[in-house]
Amino acid sequence: MNPRYLSVKLRRMVTEMKLRGTGVTCNICGRSYTSFLPSSHPPIPNSCCPNCFSFARTRLPWLYLNKNTDLLTRPIKVLHFAPEIVIYKQFKNKSAVNYTPCDYFSEGYDYPEDCVNIDITNIPFENESFDLILCAHVLEHVPDDGKAMSELYRVLKPGGAAILQVPMADAEET
Ligand SMILES: [Zn+2]
Repeated sequence: MNPRYLSVKLRRMVTEMKLRGTGVTCNICGRSYTSFLPSSHPPIPNSCCPNCFSFARTRLPWLYLNKNTDLLTRPIKVLHFAPEIVIYKQFKNKSAVNYTPCDYFSEGYDYPEDCVNIDITNIPFENESFDLILCAHVLEHVPDDGKAMSELYRVLKPGGAAILQVPMADAEET
């Protein structure tokens, strides 16, 4: 086994043992802990799952989709921008879902093998193609975010859902 991988795995096991408890439960991987780990960028306490490394910002839309929609219980077409790996794995395990992970490829980054290189301001799909679009922490990096939102609306089926997350600063920070 790769020594670096073994080291990461051992550290994760120790962290998981230290945090063993029932204070919080990750709604993606199902593990429970006394608390989640803090995230470092931005610094948020009680945010990162020690097992699947999901952040609160990733668990929230997954919670919403499970509790407030039937989208995860029926065959749907999903377009997922800048896919978080934990959500990517969830959709890849759902054989009924027609899942399209996509990103705007940049040098120096790795992408899943089936990830499609897409410009969000010129989405290469037909009108009304998708039941669900996920796009977290992308639009704040797009100069023409209005065009991007117009494109997202164009490829979304009538009655479909788009969850578009962007960071929000406290009023005192602006
Ligand atoms: Zn987890």
